[in-house]
Amino acid sequence: MELPVVNHKDYVAKIGDDHKFPINKFGELAKYLIDQRVVKKFYNPVACSFKTLNRAHSKNYINNIKNKTLDKNRIKKIGFPLEESVVKRSLVATGGTVLASKLALNYGVACNTAGGSHHANYEEGAGYCVFNDVAVAAHYLLDRGYANRILIVDLDVHQGNGNSEIFKDNKNVFTFSMHSKTNYPAKKSISDLDVELEDNLEDEVYMKTLKFYLNQLNNENFDFVFYIAGVDIHFNDRLGKLKISDEGIKNRDELVIENFSSKKMPICGVLGGGYNKDFNKLIELHSFLHQSCAKLL
Ligand SMILES: [Zn+2]
Repeated sequence: MELPVVNHKDYVAKIGDDHKFPINKFGELAKYLIDQRVVKKFYNPVACSFKTLNRAHSKNYINNIKNKTLDKNRIKKIGFPLEESVVKRSLVATGGTVLASKLALNYGVACNTAGGSHHANYEEGAGYCVFNDVAVAAHYLLDRGYANRILIVDLDVHQGNGNSEIFKDNKNVFTFSMHSKTNYPAKKSISDLDVELEDNLEDEVYMKTLKFYLNQLNNENFDFVFYIAGVDIHFNDRLGKLKISDEGIKNRDELVIENFSSKKMPICGVLGGGYNKDFNKLIELHSFLHQSCAKLL
């Protein structure tokens, strides 16, 4: 069976090729997955509905994004220009993670080719994150009784502060974030489990630490996992401060996916951040998530 993977052409917003955010990676990753025969045909999402978004974001914030009326300071905090293709992208990428989570229920594992906008909280976006797709999808699954106890494994180099804020009083969602201690956001929020890593950390300690905490998590009863597979932990990333190799990222993704799939837990994989100095390398690193998941099927 083929791994269900969600993609949409509107993931590539028109923010300009000289923008600091490598927006073209979403289109290039899709091409790469086809070329590598990981995927033959993508599942296409629709824009996330207001009602579904509203479980993780305030009406006011959603309207300000949709109508492009958000104030300047808040737009600046997000880091994208607030124009039509960015609004479209934010809605359809969030719909993409909702769709991928439903596919994961049916097939055991499924991925988005975007997602992991973990800095967005109830009232605002931040750090290239407009809507928090994982938080929206987690609420979607809980509301429909598709899951009762969800684990968010966030291995992006930055703390998943949006998720820990959105779910701080929600006992049905457990947030685990393993990130660089000195990286953005300067003021960390409190996840259910935070693991802070020292600068310049390399593969061996990284994997040992990850294994230790996965073993702890294995003692709990979760029935659904979101995995935010940020590749900004790579040594050549522009924004990361760790020194993880290509092999290290591949091993990490395989470890996480195998750990939960061996327990028959549905897994929804989303991209998370990646700002590698080498664009082609960035695409390859992001594809490790999809390749690790495809191996299971
Ligand atoms: Zn990141």
